[in-house]
Amino acid sequence: MVNLRSMREIAAMRRAGLVVWGAHQAARAMVRPGVTTIEIDREVENFFIAKEAVALFRGVPGKVPFPAVCCISVNDEVVHGIPGPRVLLAGDVVSIDTGCSVEGWCGDSAITHAVGAVDSEVQKLLDCTSGVLALAIELMAVRNRWSDVASEMAKYVRDYGFSVVENFVGHGIGRKMHEDPQVPNFCTPAFRRNHDFDLKPGIVIAVEPMVNMGSKKVRSMPDHWTQTTVDGRPSAHFEHTVAITENGPVVLTAAPSTPDETIKTAV
Ligand code: MG
Ligand code: MG
Repeated sequence: MVNLRSMREIAAMRRAGLVVWGAHQAARAMVRPGVTTIEIDREVENFFIAKEAVALFRGVPGKVPFPAVCCISVNDEVVHGIPGPRVLLAGDVVSIDTGCSVEGWCGDSAITHAVGAVDSEVQKLLDCTSGVLALAIELMAVRNRWSDVASEMAKYVRDYGFSVVENFVGHGIGRKMHEDPQVPNFCTPAFRRNHDFDLKPGIVIAVEPMVNMGSKKVRSMPDHWTQTTVDGRPSAHFEHTVAITENGPVVLTAAPSTPDETIKTAV
């Protein structure tokens, strides 16, 4: 069942989204050669504590509960990387995915950063992945069904010569981080037939394209969480929490749009 949210509820989710945005600024400031991924995770955790936000990733059930507040995935790691002693090197790409709740409402967002200078093909992968997320948000204003957005996302990535990961998809979000519907970044006849949904006011979804430079296929690492590309080539991941309102899509995990927004959320 897909929950439709009122404007009041969407405003509450914006408060969580702003904290997630702030956490990403704190993380971004840490990204440089020589830093470890656990140091970035601790910075984000401290940010959430300072904002009295509840980190959503720690304890997510699996064979072992997820042990950190961010998923940090480097190079061929696609998603769900566990922060640890790994040192970032110039030329790496690092995906940071995090979420929190504020007064019971959730926000979820991911960004892939270049560490120092990266080669031009890797930069193209980042541009394609952030570009396809921007395209999806634009299309949410003018398409009626998610399948129409998803097909255009897949085409956009194909035109770059890259591939959309199909093992993982975006999701509805609200009181819980993961709610219905499933939000794929590609479209199949089965999705169109059985799982498609209308883009109508009140829908709030986390849109999160994962794009691989080579094969779309991924495999799970022995830590039970980290997903890597099967061919060892790099992957990128960008995500925003997006609400559809009567006035079109609103990105709940975007930067503050007015100084007033900043003041209200400053702790
Ligand atoms: Mg996420
Ligand atoms: Mg998500």
